[in-house]
Amino acid sequence: MKKHPLKLLIILLIILLYSSPVYANDVVVVLDPGHGGDSLGGHNDMFQEMYLNMEVAKYAKERLEQYEGVVVYLTRDNAESENTTLKERAEFAAAHNADFLFAIHFNMSEKHKLYGAEVWTSAFGEYYSKGQEFGHIEMDALVNETGFYDRGVKTKVSNKDKNTDYYGSIREARELEIPCVIIEHCHMDEERDYNYLLEHSDAYKTLGYLDADAIAKYYRLSSASLGVDYSNYDRETFPAPEGPVYTDKTAPTYCSVTLDEVDTENNTATITVNSHDDESYLIYYQISTDEGENFGRLFPWNNDPNAKKSSKTDSITVTVPLKEGEESSIVVRAQNLVDQYADSEVLKLPAGSITETEEESSTDSEYNSLSDSSVMDETEYEEIEYEWDDSVKRKNIVDSDDLLLFVIAAIGLLLIICMTALIFAGKIRKNKRKRSRNRRQQK
Ligand SMILES: [Zn+2]
Repeated sequence: MKKHPLKLLIILLIILLYSSPVYANDVVVVLDPGHGGDSLGGHNDMFQEMYLNMEVAKYAKERLEQYEGVVVYLTRDNAESENTTLKERAEFAAAHNADFLFAIHFNMSEKHKLYGAEVWTSAFGEYYSKGQEFGHIEMDALVNETGFYDRGVKTKVSNKDKNTDYYGSIREARELEIPCVIIEHCHMDEERDYNYLLEHSDAYKTLGYLDADAIAKYYRLSSASLGVDYSNYDRETFPAPEGPVYTDKTAPTYCSVTLDEVDTENNTATITVNSHDDESYLIYYQISTDEGENFGRLFPWNNDPNAKKSSKTDSITVTVPLKEGEESSIVVRAQNLVDQYADSEVLKLPAGSITETEEESSTDSEYNSLSDSSVMDETEYEEIEYEWDDSVKRKNIVDSDDLLLFVIAAIGLLLIICMTALIFAGKIRKNKRKRSRNRRQQK
């Protein structure tokens, strides 16, 4: 039987259209620089979050595009220009067939005392698994390369609906079946973190590249131009949970403090703080020198980043200053991964020896530095979920690459339809001839 040349052409066209769409096997990553337009994000005298997010996202895109097998989109490329809802950002990701949506942010806390990095993930199923797997790669990089404190890779379930995530970016992405994490790189309002941003001229580039490399490790990508190969990258795995995963719902169960040693020569005392948390673990402590009225700055509960994950120590030893010629009393507060805390009983400290030198003032200032704040609790700002008026038109999110692909696909489809029609027309004519031939033969 002779093959129809048109049939061959159509088969060829179909193969062309469906075997080599431009990005068939590529990982599609959508980076979402948080806030923008009328939503500045966190802001103070030094920083406006929307600009920081955009800067980091652009560096991340630039770096990630140097890897093979990945396509990268930004939800927006100008911090000032557009108001974009979290739903629209998720829809943008869906429209580009995103494998993952990464929301890029910087943090602030209500009392300006929290410091460190955190990654928020979905609390549900495979979205939890993927978020946690990426989140731990990202957190390790942040801790090791920038020295930011590890505030955890965490989930937060909505208070209103136990079947949804609290944070809008993650919730909207999950609605569209896209895994999403929120990367809170560090705090813009606490000196340990903002000093990093101020003292490193390439801080945002470092963070953007770090994000990109973490994504590359997660997807086991390689880059000939960068000379890196993560194809065998061994990442920690997290099985998909049945129900929602709650990071922690309660405060530490207790906090107690004992006096170990008094050093009158140096006017210091050594104390041991014991605390325990059943659900998560302790990350900070702070001390009050006025019986729990006011607390000073937050100190890391455990300075060893690796120890935090594995041993989750409940006991720490701290050296505190003694007041010269005056008894004093302190209260220690232990704070867990979700910033809930437990306070110790009051511990009386003996009077320190009076020194005739100017050291008096330095001891005083040490005390002051422990109690220089007038606030007691630490509640982190909740992520502000901006819902824009529906009359704000969604911006055109179809970029030129997509348009080209669409036009090629449309032309291809049109050709297929035309050719199929031609073949059918030919067949019908052939059948007609056959039938009339048969009729003639029957007659
Ligand atoms: Zn933000």
